Amino acid sequence: MLGFLNTRANAAGDPEVFASPDGFADWARGENLPTAGTVVTESDAVAARELRDALVTVLLAHADDRTLSDEEVADAEARLVQASVRYPLISLISTRGARLTGASTGTPGILGTVVAAVTQLALHDDWARLKACCNPPCHTAFVDRTRNRAARYCSPACNSQVSMRALRERRRNPPA
Ligand SMILES: [Zn+2]
Repeated sequence: MLGFLNTRANAAGDPEVFASPDGFADWARGENLPTAGTVVTESDAVAARELRDALVTVLLAHADDRTLSDEEVADAEARLVQASVRYPLISLISTRGARLTGASTGTPGILGTVVAAVTQLALHDDWARLKACCNPPCHTAFVDRTRNRAARYCSPACNSQVSMRALRERRRNPPA
C-alpha cells in the first residue's frame, strides 16, 4: 500500500511513477497485480494519480497537516467514494477467513485491488497511524509507530527542514 502511495515525484528527485500509461503498467506488474491483456491508457494513469492523491490528502489529515482545509479533505473523501463506485470489490470467503479484492479486470481491477487493500487497513484501529509527511515537498506515506501517535513527519530530516523554514520565516517577518 505504501508502494502505491509513494509514487509521486518527490524532493529526493524520484520522478512521478504514473506520469505515463507505461509507468502505471510497469508499477502494476512490479506489484504482481493482474495486468495480462490490459491496455493501459492515458486516462488510466490520470485515474491512478487521482486515487493516490485523494488518499495522500486523507493521510495528511491523519498527520494533522495545518495547511489542509476542511474543503480539501471533504473533496478527497468524495473522490474516494467515487473511486469505490467505479472500482467494485468482491469478498473472497474461505475456511481461512475472508479478504477483499477488485471485482473487475484491467485497470478498474488494478485500482480495485488498491481500494480493497486500503479498505482492509481502514477497518483496523491502526488506520489513523497511516500518515503522510507534513513537509510539503515530501508528503511521503509512513506508519506512525510513536506511542502517542503524534508524528507529523516521515523522518527527523523532514522535521528539522520544517523547523528551519519556520525559523527563517520568523526572522524575515518578526512579530510586531
Ligand atoms: Zn518527509
